[in-house]
Amino acid sequence: MLDKGPHDFNLDFYTPPVIEEMTRSVIEFQRTFASSSQKKIERYAKLLMEARDEDTQDFRVAKPAKLIPPYFVNYESGSWQELNRTIWESAANLDDSSSIMPILACDYVESPDFVIILLKQCLEKFNGCFLWLNNFPEQVVSKEKILGLLEILRSKPNDKLVFNLYGGYLSVILLKKGLNGFSNGVGYSESRNFHDLQAAGGPPPRYYMPKLHRYLSREEAQILINSSPDGFYKCNCIICRKATRNKHVVIDDLDYHDLMKHFVLARYNDINFFANHNLNEIIQDLETTINYFDSTSFAKIANVVSNSRYINLSVSHLVTWAESLRESTN
Ligand SMILES: [Zn+2]
Repeated sequence: MLDKGPHDFNLDFYTPPVIEEMTRSVIEFQRTFASSSQKKIERYAKLLMEARDEDTQDFRVAKPAKLIPPYFVNYESGSWQELNRTIWESAANLDDSSSIMPILACDYVESPDFVIILLKQCLEKFNGCFLWLNNFPEQVVSKEKILGLLEILRSKPNDKLVFNLYGGYLSVILLKKGLNGFSNGVGYSESRNFHDLQAAGGPPPRYYMPKLHRYLSREEAQILINSSPDGFYKCNCIICRKATRNKHVVIDDLDYHDLMKHFVLARYNDINFFANHNLNEIIQDLETTINYFDSTSFAKIANVVSNSRYINLSVSHLVTWAESLRESTN
């Protein structure tokens, strides 16, 4: 997984018996981990209940809903694709393979075609998969790459499931375009570049700006909020309301946990908004923010920061999302 290359390697090492043993042992570990850890986890669960002054009760460790075979990042060319296909073959032959859901990790740089072919081959054997497009930060990727992802989702049969392993608000919207779910949570990355996995760590304190559907530094967020006297960027969650002075939330009053709670509440609102609006209304909402930012905030922010250091605030990601979605809807 931490291989740096698109360089090739000798597939001879991965003989059928090696692949079979590797796949079986990885799946078996996941199958039995919950029951073999029951005692240890139960001890900590009881300590937590005691600390919370709750009645201690029996605690059952949940079994994993899905099991993931070993996997390697696929490049557009080279032998990794063949190795992953052989692993799928081996996993599909195991007992109870219906609970197996592979991770399809792809270094998609140019064309999505090889991802589409791999997805098809994977879904011929399994009910669904987790898709990991390497280095796909939704706030930065190009329109071409988003259109490619939409093409990938369009190629998926309706009765199969594809979950995005990483994602943010764009993935919420893509639930209307064939995606079946995505991983998201406090302290969980919205994108991952496998080259950087060794250096991955906890996120810095930052404020999730609901209208921009992205994180900003405390300073950037405060400048943007203060730039709008009509409260366009205002968040009405309980955390932000408590930290509001003179109509504006004071971001410096929010501690690390407040910032995380605010994110969870804001993402909950994102998902609620998504559930109650059609795709056209969701795109219009992005365009409202783009127009507001362009017509009001930007000039004022430029004034505010003219004597200070340069602050790079932009809604270009919203422009890219809206244009890609409009183009794929036409
Ligand atoms: Zn809030």
